[in-house]
Amino acid sequence: MVSRVIPVEPFDLIIFGATGDLARRKILPGLYRRFAAGQIPPQSRIIGAARSEMDHDGFRAFAAEAITEFVDASKRSEAEIARFTERLFYVTLDAKGDTGWPELAQMMRPDVVQAFYLSVGPVLFGAIAERLHQHGIATPESRIVVEKPFGRDLATARELNAMLASHFAERQIYRIDHYLGKETVQNLMAVRFANILFEPLWNTQYVDHVQITVAETVGVGGRAAYYDRAGAMRDMVQNHMMQLLCLIAMEPPYSFNPDAVRDEKLKVIRALEPVGPDDTVRGQYRGRPAQGGTPAEPSYAQDAGTPQSRTESYIALKVMIANWRWKGTPFYLRTGKKLRARASEIAIVFKEPPHSIFGEGEGWRENVLAIRLQPNEGMNLSVMIKEPGPGGMRLTEVPLDMSFAEALGEEGTDIPDAYERLIMDVIRGNQTLFMRGDEVEAAWAWTDPIIAEWEARSEKPKGYDPGSSGPEDALMLLHRDGRRWREIRE
Ligand code: NAP
Repeated sequence: MVSRVIPVEPFDLIIFGATGDLARRKILPGLYRRFAAGQIPPQSRIIGAARSEMDHDGFRAFAAEAITEFVDASKRSEAEIARFTERLFYVTLDAKGDTGWPELAQMMRPDVVQAFYLSVGPVLFGAIAERLHQHGIATPESRIVVEKPFGRDLATARELNAMLASHFAERQIYRIDHYLGKETVQNLMAVRFANILFEPLWNTQYVDHVQITVAETVGVGGRAAYYDRAGAMRDMVQNHMMQLLCLIAMEPPYSFNPDAVRDEKLKVIRALEPVGPDDTVRGQYRGRPAQGGTPAEPSYAQDAGTPQSRTESYIALKVMIANWRWKGTPFYLRTGKKLRARASEIAIVFKEPPHSIFGEGEGWRENVLAIRLQPNEGMNLSVMIKEPGPGGMRLTEVPLDMSFAEALGEEGTDIPDAYERLIMDVIRGNQTLFMRGDEVEAAWAWTDPIIAEWEARSEKPKGYDPGSSGPEDALMLLHRDGRRWREIRE
């Protein structure tokens, strides 16, 4: 299969926070990969802005280092890096002061697509949006990209939305949820809406339940200061997992246009039932003393530097959707750090056939469509067949297993990173994979009472061992419904 790369129009991308971690690890390497793929026209420019004193060459050297560190050696060359970094410029600028703004204003070109990427903490969003207008830099056609977290509750999300709306129209605002840029996440829509096979079964009549798992093996690491104020609910569920749930549960949009898709996602969020205390389990990873040759592992509290922390590094939830399609089908969500494997998966677990002509206990298992988001993206449909050989009709389960990398050959392994795709979508002016303001607010409106309930009860999260599947109580969440979690494995 030949990879199709469609070049975008020439653009100026201004990265506020260009010296930060996200720019270094994701944005600059991602832009390089798109440039190397021939997607970025040579007239385009990437302008870094931050307070650090640096000239254009300093920023080019910074970017070259980031690319060397974060782009696979087989996908980069010195010559290509040099060609790419020629397109890079830098302005020393203070988001909250006057420094740098006139210089940035002078650099602007009216005849190319203009996008501002706010890769800075949300406290700076307002100051930057204001100055972009004060200095006549933003136009009615410019695009503004904002990073997560988008608020920490409904009130702060509304404030952010109102602030952005006072400077930009909704069609100019791109709220990033990088999960939406993942290849497999988009594949959820292709699988559902480009095949007739699944849609007739995609409802409460045939689906017993859905499991959405995002498991990490790492702890909070360097993000502890932010994470301890957020927890798994705010960091993962309100945004990324909510988006996955929406893509699984939504009605077919009338077209693949941004508002058609986002309208359908919004309807799902609005149909979510409130989640009671018995339907959530919060966990926090324990530490482990040194054993034999294995070094000690710090607990969450040690990682976060807050011995009394009640922040959850794990959460499991049972979520119900009150609409015709899903009434009665639970969606079980779980996500956590320091779990046994790094694995993200959505599993659609189908109901039993209405009647078994083979009798009971003949090895029957339910059909499961598992969509692996990472690692080894792919799909697996478990089906029952006859166990080969003599001895009568015994059933056995076999997987119809498809690894995208294997099925699609080289093209299947050469998948753009989520950030690459999303930045190119900004330049194309395609908002389909970005969250709309009302969507984010609806997600917070559902999340807030769950968090408020925990805070009122002030309960410590349940402990779980590093390398485990999470707290025992999370097993009970499914056991009491006569179900079990799928194994977390890579
Ligand atoms: P970071 O490493 O702390 O970088 C912050 C950037 O902002 C730096 O370039 C800093 O440069 C600049 N900055 C700070 N104050 C400024 C000011 N007054 N004027 C101009 N520039 C200023 O943060 P990050 O990890 O890159 O994160 C950036 C945003 O992305 C945050 O909203 C974060 O929540 C979000 N995010 C990050 C990640 C990630 O993996 N890192 C993932 C998802 C979302 P100077 O000090 O030189 O000014």
